[in-house]
Amino acid sequence: MDAGPEANAQHAAFDAVSFLQAHGIRITEPRRRIAELLLGRPQHRSAEQVTDALRREGFRISKATVYNTLNLFASHGLLRELAVDPRRSWFDSNTSRHFHFHDVRRGVLSDVAVAEVQFARLPEPPPGMEVESVEVVIRVRPKGESPAG
Ligand SMILES: [Zn+2]
Repeated sequence: MDAGPEANAQHAAFDAVSFLQAHGIRITEPRRRIAELLLGRPQHRSAEQVTDALRREGFRISKATVYNTLNLFASHGLLRELAVDPRRSWFDSNTSRHFHFHDVRRGVLSDVAVAEVQFARLPEPPPGMEVESVEVVIRVRPKGESPAG
């Protein structure tokens, strides 16, 4: 996984129970586990990855519980659901505004700062509408490899 020794130290220091309580979320065991896994540091995980990680720790949890918990956290602004990959739901614990590289081969997301992207031109929104947000996903693959089928 993407967790180095530094990340583990931060992970250990993160108080998931206090964090959830501060956001008005009632504590349950799945919520605490998922918060500890995801919310202590910026990262991108799919619902499947969260389920697998918890099961590897020996915690029995259904996919439905993981989805419901991730959506609950997203509805409280603790996570952002990313529409980058039609095959799976990704959740980002960095809720500040930014864009993404999507490594289509390894299925990994990495952040792109807003300042790194410049829009030379956007179309006029339809009459009576204004632009609320723009999402950018830059799909990447190892050089020389053919596009994913
Ligand atoms: Zn991100």
